[in-house]
Order: sequence, then C-alpha cells, then structure tokens
Amino acid sequence: MTGADARIRISEIFGPTIQGEGVLIGQPTVFVRTGGCDYRCGWCDTLHAVDSAYRDEWKPMSVEAIWAEVERLSGGVPLTVSLSGGNPAIQPLGPLIEHGNRRGYRFALETQGSIAKGWFENLDTLVLSPKPPSSGMETDWHALQNCLDMAASKPQTVLKIVVFDDADYAFARHAAARFPHLPVYLQPGNHTPPPPDDDEAVVDIDGVMDRMLWLVGKVTEDRWFAARVLPQLHVLLWGNRRGV
Ligand code: SF4
Repeated sequence: MTGADARIRISEIFGPTIQGEGVLIGQPTVFVRTGGCDYRCGWCDTLHAVDSAYRDEWKPMSVEAIWAEVERLSGGVPLTVSLSGGNPAIQPLGPLIEHGNRRGYRFALETQGSIAKGWFENLDTLVLSPKPPSSGMETDWHALQNCLDMAASKPQTVLKIVVFDDADYAFARHAAARFPHLPVYLQPGNHTPPPPDDDEAVVDIDGVMDRMLWLVGKVTEDRWFAARVLPQLHVLLWGNRRGV
C-alpha cells in the first residue's frame, strides 16, 4: 500500500476547538491526532496516543475517511488542521495534506523532530518540540536538522520547548543557540497525568502557574527577549481532558 492508498493510524479527530499552545495559540482548529510515538517522555500528557495499551483504540483510516470527519467537524469551512500525536511524523500524512490544501485548508504539525519527512515542506506551520532532560529522552540534533532541511524554509517553523526546571531551561537556551533563526516558545511543564476517563480532568493549575511565573522571571532576568513564554491555554480551560 503506497501513496494516497496508505492508511493513517488515528487516535482521535476532534474539534473545532482552539489551539492551546505555541505560535498558533487561540486559533480555531480541528485536531487530527495520530497513534504511536518513537519517544516515551516521563511526563507525556497524551499517553492515549503513545502507549501501546491504547493500540486497540487507534484506527487505520484512509485519507477520504479522515477528510470526511474533518469536513464534518469544520462544517466545510477551511481552517488550520493541527496534526498531532504521538509523533505524527511517523505516519504517511503527505496525501492528507495535499487533499486538504486543494480544498483551502491549512496544516500545522507538531513533532519532537526525531523523524523527517519530505512532505514537511507542504505544511503551513511546523512546530519542532525537542524534549528537555526532564522528559528522560535525548535529542538527536542531526535528526532535528533533517526536519528543517525537509521543510526547506517553506512552512513557518518554530521551536517549542517544555520547561520544568533549571536543566530544562539550560536545554532551551542551548536549542535556541543552535537554531538562532527560529522563534522560540517556552511552555511551563504540566506534571498532571491525563485522567483515566474524560470526566475527571484534575490539573495542578497552581503548580503550572507557579512554574509559569518562575519561567517569566528566568527569561526576564537573563534578558532573553527573543523568547516567548506561554502556558497551555487548553489545560487552563479544560484540564487534561481529551477531545477539547
Ligand atoms: Fe508524548 Fe510527545 Fe513525548 Fe511522544 S514525544 S512521548 S507524544 S510528549
């Protein structure tokens, strides 16, 4: 099975809602979340799209079936589709992006930058989110550079880095120094694990806001004026609930 026939492993499709983080924060969007990830971050907040225990929930879907759902949710009005995961770069998303582009939709993709695909250049926004030390993962900077090479400067491309502590902050500064041409979005980490069911989304909002204040203090003390510091808006609004 190749090209337009390839199935895409989908964890969930939902919206319209708003993008809750990073460069597109506040923008109405439909999320297409793929299943599967080559990482396993200690604080992952989308385990239902990562952990193989949820594999039975992931559906292999055709471009047409995904698109029918995106059009139903958006009412046929073009908007930005957020491709998320897991790591959506694992999936064969090129034909879906071409299909949507022909209908006036735009695409934003977030990935940790471990896998590069040729279709990155057809995105409108590429969010590269290398994972800091607190995740327990190690960044392959060459792989991240490959992602940039594949994007070929066509999509708007940014770095988004979750920060829990001083080591993460140092990592963010290192990443920004490696890629000085990329805008940097810093995001205070959210320790709260996702709830076992959608009705019980409890988040340590005070902890998130304390970390936000600490991070704002770090950036301003350092005179790191190119950085943007943003909380996860959807977490403040809805906790870690799925499907919003
Ligand atoms: Fe979760 Fe993202 Fe880490 Fe994958 S890369 S385990 S989706 S936080």
